[in-house]
Amino acid sequence: MMTLLVPYADRLVRDEPLARYTAARLGGPADWLYVARESTDELVEVVSAAWAQGVPVRVLGGGANVLVSDQGVRGLVVINDVAEVTFGDWHDGRNAAATGGTGLTVLARKSAARGLAGLEWAASVPGTVGGAVVNNAGAHGRDMAASLCDAVVLDAERGPQLMSREDLAFGYRDSALKARPDRRFVVLLATFALTPEDPAVIQTRIEELIAYRKRTQPPGASLGSIFKNPPGDYAGRLIEAAGLKGCRIGSALVSPVHANFFVNIGDATAADYSALIEHVREVVYRHSGIALEMEIERVGEW
Ligand SMILES: Cc1cc2nc3c(=O)[nH]c(=O)nc-3n(C[C@H](O)[C@H](O)[C@H](O)COP(=O)(O)OP(=O)(O)OC[C@H]3O[C@@H](n4cnc5c(N)ncnc54)[C@H](O)[C@@H]3O)c2cc1C
Repeated sequence: MMTLLVPYADRLVRDEPLARYTAARLGGPADWLYVARESTDELVEVVSAAWAQGVPVRVLGGGANVLVSDQGVRGLVVINDVAEVTFGDWHDGRNAAATGGTGLTVLARKSAARGLAGLEWAASVPGTVGGAVVNNAGAHGRDMAASLCDAVVLDAERGPQLMSREDLAFGYRDSALKARPDRRFVVLLATFALTPEDPAVIQTRIEELIAYRKRTQPPGASLGSIFKNPPGDYAGRLIEAAGLKGCRIGSALVSPVHANFFVNIGDATAADYSALIEHVREVVYRHSGIALEMEIERVGEW
């Protein structure tokens, strides 16, 4: 294994299992793991040092959209826990800014308390602003693209870049960043234009959305929706129609509550989870002729 010299080296952990850093509670070890939580400067220094040494870097937020292989991830995994939300009255309607490690739920709730609407959908979505920018996360008819103005992205080759909405080229659970397989970038900050509204009204909307989720989505360790909804249909409906609710491989289960959620009901391996994905995709294709596309991302050595 190569060596790695980074600032704050005493906080670098070797061969750290990633299961506890992912929402599905599975995944093998990272060669090195660093949890950045002090400041954006710290995050930039650590990632830049690894890049300069030719060590591959994977930045994760909540690990809520990634299936990490049982073999784990080579190089450095940085968990971005640098969370800071600022409100103001800036140019062109920008009135909120959040660092990439800010939890979506925290951002949504702080915005609501401030009387700023637009991110209510995010109040019960796990993960961070950084992951949500990459994925253009969304729910209940809204997404990041609807409120985001621009993002500051550290690029391995070009340094810090201000990326506009146009540069980010958002699509359905997609962006220009998601399309970059090299992943040699870090989302440091995002700014938003939110709509002033009575905090109590925003809060009520949040509570309604949370109650709806509780009724329609399973608790437990999962990655949320595994597949994207195909045009004009729902992945969950197609999986259920193919008779796959309750289908299980090892400890990975197609949720009986919502068929597009696969729950780790014990000690599922990434191999179980991945095999279940392939099985479901194949059966749905045979049943409906529709090839489901993954919303989640496989990470590490497959
Ligand atoms: C129970 C449950 C419900 C969910 N519901 C929804 C939903 O309603 N709508 C929805 O859209 N999603 C949903 N998801 C998926 C997930 O919450 C979102 O995709 C979220 O935005 C992922 O954020 P994260 O920080 O966990 O990203 P991660 O899973 O950690 O990372 C995702 C990708 O982004 C990259 N990344 C993360 N942070 C950075 C950064 N700062 N800089 C550069 N790259 C970065 C990672 O390398 C990876 O490629 C759900 C997940 C769960 C477990």
